[in-house]
Amino acid sequence: MRLTVLGKSPSWADAGGASSGYLITEGETALVLDCGNGVFGKLREQIDYVDVDAVCVSHLHADHFFDLFPFAYALLLAPRQQPVPVAGHPGTDSPARPRLYMPPGGRNALRTISGVWGDEALVETGFDLAEYDTDSALEVGPLRLRFASVPHYVLTHAIEVTSTTGEGRLTFGADCCPNDELVEFARDTDLLVIEATLPRPERTGVRGHLTPAEAGDHAKRAGAKRALLTHISDELDAAWARDEGSQAFGAPLEVARDGSTYEI
Ligand SMILES: [Zn+2]
Repeated sequence: MRLTVLGKSPSWADAGGASSGYLITEGETALVLDCGNGVFGKLREQIDYVDVDAVCVSHLHADHFFDLFPFAYALLLAPRQQPVPVAGHPGTDSPARPRLYMPPGGRNALRTISGVWGDEALVETGFDLAEYDTDSALEVGPLRLRFASVPHYVLTHAIEVTSTTGEGRLTFGADCCPNDELVEFARDTDLLVIEATLPRPERTGVRGHLTPAEAGDHAKRAGAKRALLTHISDELDAAWARDEGSQAFGAPLEVARDGSTYEI
């Protein structure tokens, strides 16, 4: 199983970057976790989007799903997806229609947003959309997905991906404040991809994110074999974040970069 970081930015994109998106491949199977703003273009740098088997979204914040709209337009409007010959493409009776797994409420959220410009069914026409249950596992080819809700401002799911043909286990923490749920869910995982959005804890209001030190502490408590800090702005010093996280983890960890890959 291979992880490619498509986008590691938080809710505002890095210069030339993209918000939350991760490509996971195992053999011919391709899964995209989150599809935030800027992710579709990054995906196209890595793989042909018609070869994506499924997209799964952790929660309904813009930086985790807004590029479903351009992705859906590609699936519906690209010349090679048409039933008739056009622009040198022969026409197809079976255009790509990847599965799209949304959290509960996802279908209506997508309808509401694209309904603003009069195209309510845009995403569910381009994709084969289903809402997942937190308590149910999903299978995408040889990949098996499990979910655990983690505390954030809205219903949010950490997502575990395991290979049914290999040994690898990846745990994606999504967005979360300090919590025990993720620590339990990620117990002994091979790679914990964990957000490190904040330079310091929120000064006011409800907590919703982690600092690099808190992320490293979660990875340590989970007993993760490796940890990767993500959802961190290029306006924070990556070396500082790595040092803070590594100190708390008790071992070196890495800070994600768009395009970086990890074998699991
Ligand atoms: Zn969020």
